[in-house]
Amino acid sequence: MTDHAVPFDLEVDVIVLGTGGSGLTAALAAHDFGAGEVLILEKFGMIGGTSAMSGGMLWIPLNDQQGERGVDDSFDEVVEYLDGLADDGHLDPEVLGAFLEEGPEMLRWFEEKTPVRLRLFEGFPDYQSWAPGAKEHGSRSLDNDVFPFAELGSWAKWVNPPKTGWPRRTSMIEDYYTPNLPADVLADREARDCRGQGQALIGSLLKGVLDRGIPLHRESRARHLITEGRSVVGVETEENGSVLRIRARKGVIIATGGFEWNTKLVNSFLRGPMTGPVSVPECEGDGLLMAMEVGASLGNMGKSWWLQSSQELAAHGRGHANYLIGNSERTRPRSILVNRAAQRFVNEATNYNAIGPVLHNFDANTHDYTNLPFWIIVDQPYVEKYRFFNATTKGVVPPWAITADTIEELGERIGIDGVALAKTVSTFNADVAAGRDTEFGRGDSTYDQFWGDKDFDGVYRTLGPIDTAPYYAVKMESGVLGTCGGPRTNASAQVIDWDDQPIEGLYVCSNAMSSPTAGVYGGAGGTLGPGMTFGFIAGRHAAQRG
Ligand SMILES: Cc1cc2nc3c(=O)[nH]c(=O)nc-3n(C[C@H](O)[C@H](O)[C@H](O)COP(=O)(O)OP(=O)(O)OC[C@H]3O[C@@H](n4cnc5c(N)ncnc54)[C@H](O)[C@@H]3O)c2cc1C
Repeated sequence: MTDHAVPFDLEVDVIVLGTGGSGLTAALAAHDFGAGEVLILEKFGMIGGTSAMSGGMLWIPLNDQQGERGVDDSFDEVVEYLDGLADDGHLDPEVLGAFLEEGPEMLRWFEEKTPVRLRLFEGFPDYQSWAPGAKEHGSRSLDNDVFPFAELGSWAKWVNPPKTGWPRRTSMIEDYYTPNLPADVLADREARDCRGQGQALIGSLLKGVLDRGIPLHRESRARHLITEGRSVVGVETEENGSVLRIRARKGVIIATGGFEWNTKLVNSFLRGPMTGPVSVPECEGDGLLMAMEVGASLGNMGKSWWLQSSQELAAHGRGHANYLIGNSERTRPRSILVNRAAQRFVNEATNYNAIGPVLHNFDANTHDYTNLPFWIIVDQPYVEKYRFFNATTKGVVPPWAITADTIEELGERIGIDGVALAKTVSTFNADVAAGRDTEFGRGDSTYDQFWGDKDFDGVYRTLGPIDTAPYYAVKMESGVLGTCGGPRTNASAQVIDWDDQPIEGLYVCSNAMSSPTAGVYGGAGGTLGPGMTFGFIAGRHAAQRG
């Protein structure tokens, strides 16, 4: 927090911090709803943050496309769903109401005024597809049409690439339902540099920013808010080796993502060990620190968008380890997760966010986390059929995988009881043969089966025996897509203090905010849907502020 009396270097109406999906949405909304001058600051040299590396899906219940396809949904059903899953008393009805009301409004505005094009992903089940109020056969999740990066001109090179390093030319819907597109379609897309998923989301938002002439400073790290009395009136940012003081006549919108790369904040707030974030390393909680400096109240700080990852052996750019997502790895047949006691401990095919807290089970006798460390165990037919972590082709295993000819030996090699591991595998295999996971119900839900192998039917989409040598083990981490706690807001995305009063001039959206769904991952797009909706609300409210 710094003094407003020191002269400003620059003055605009609205300043947006961060260029993920939420930040770019906030900037576009601020512009379209009347802010004359909007400025975007991005800490990194590349644009789009984790959002650019993501699947780019948005979970927006009550969207118009549901009605167009004859799907019934209602406010009460969504509330029943989220309320039934959230910790008691953690959902703020006002904030949740704003998400449900404004999400569909944002989609209409995207369609009418911006290049963002989102399509309902039919059949993609809500993540807790068994829960009351869930849409078991989808309709609340939306996917991006591919977007031609040729339209971004020289800005295309500044978009953060996907985690794999190469963009997909297809949408998520195509990948799932029509994976083999005709060669001429793909060649045309290649020629126009059409990209799907998070690249399409950020590409289309960035096109909107460029069309409107909104300035965007790269390598500009906002550090402190500038206040006048109790109101926020600007930002101090580090740019080109010096500190720039920028006045914001209408508001500052924090869209800096989570705090998962800041060890001090992680250790202070998260409910248990977190060792494998898969987001961009710029998500260090800068926005959280700035908001705390001006007295923001905080919510959902112990929670995260949990995810299971594995550390790639080779270090990956910017001085940080690289953590690879291990999702389909654990949901396919012929795989299990085991803990240090060589036991299975969870339905491996359930959603990543729900597995997170299971990794924080605590053993009072040993004073240690029961399920950490943990490993994924697979067999030879698995690696021949599926791509495994960062393997570029099937049949290849990551260099950090441990291999053995017997399950007992594999256990010994990873430092757990080999005999116990063999027993665990044989119990699992017996369940597979009988067609029912009697321990954890893996494959029972529509969700479990959706993420499995479509070559099989029913539970066998995710259940398969581990019975053919050699066997492989890969150590996994308790990771996150991003944290989801931060400054609390009112329904207008204004940051509120501990007396629930708005801090005038300060807004928050993205993973930087206290999650509007109280950390419940509603369905595919469960982080970007709420985060971007609050970007939309924040931009509009700031623009219209007197
Ligand atoms: C492979 C993958 C797939 C995923 N798929 C999906 C999906 O389909 N749907 C979904 O909902 N979620 C998905 N997620 C999670 C999702 O990507 C993130 O939760 C989301 O992108 C977070 O958006 P954000 O705007 O909060 O943060 P980010 O997109 O990370 O943006 C934050 C930006 O703020 C910048 N910044 C940080 N500090 C400062 C500062 N001090 N000053 C200025 N700028 C700053 C950062 O550099 C960054 O560019 C996925 C994640 C991954 C890795």
